Amino acid sequence: LEPKEEFEHSSLAVDVMRPRRSDPALAVLTQEGMTVGEVEALVESTHYSGFPVVVGTFVFIYNGRKRQEGVVSSSQVVFTEHTPSQAPDAPPPLRLRGIMDLSPFTVTDHTPMDITVDIFRKLGLRQCLVTHNGRLLGIITKKDILKHMAQITNRDPDSILFN
Ligand code: ADP
Repeated sequence: LEPKEEFEHSSLAVDVMRPRRSDPALAVLTQEGMTVGEVEALVESTHYSGFPVVVGTFVFIYNGRKRQEGVVSSSQVVFTEHTPSQAPDAPPPLRLRGIMDLSPFTVTDHTPMDITVDIFRKLGLRQCLVTHNGRLLGIITKKDILKHMAQITNRDPDSILFN
């Protein structure tokens, strides 16, 4: 990414994050109560590579998919450390805690983009979550930033390199 002058337009995180107002809502998973079938349906209905996992007001990012022994569509998806008690005849749960980013970076919707870009650079982030009053609002990926910069500087996104 080029120096900060490119953000003289004083863009804020809310200007770069997805979803835009007209887009479908942010696709999220919940920590409890989802089955493998439900998670798969969500993953297949979108092209996103990450999904915030909502736990009360906390959020994590779930990246990827995984198969575990005996897991079927009706298996519960478990993002917690300990498996919640299940009916004795329930199929084994799918445990996903191990592949979650447990401390995704978060900025507020009013964080200036020059600061956000600095953080992306310094921490080597690929995505970050955007909140408003502590509630999850959206997501910003590295590519979203590159596209936004290309737009305001009228350049080809491919010509703007990170680092
Ligand atoms: P990339 O931006 O590298 O292509 P993704 O494929 O994950 O990364 O995301 C594609 C677009 O969808 C981006 O604009 C991103 O902000 C948005 N996006 C990513 N994850 C979600 C999600 N869970 N819900 C809604 N939009 C998302």
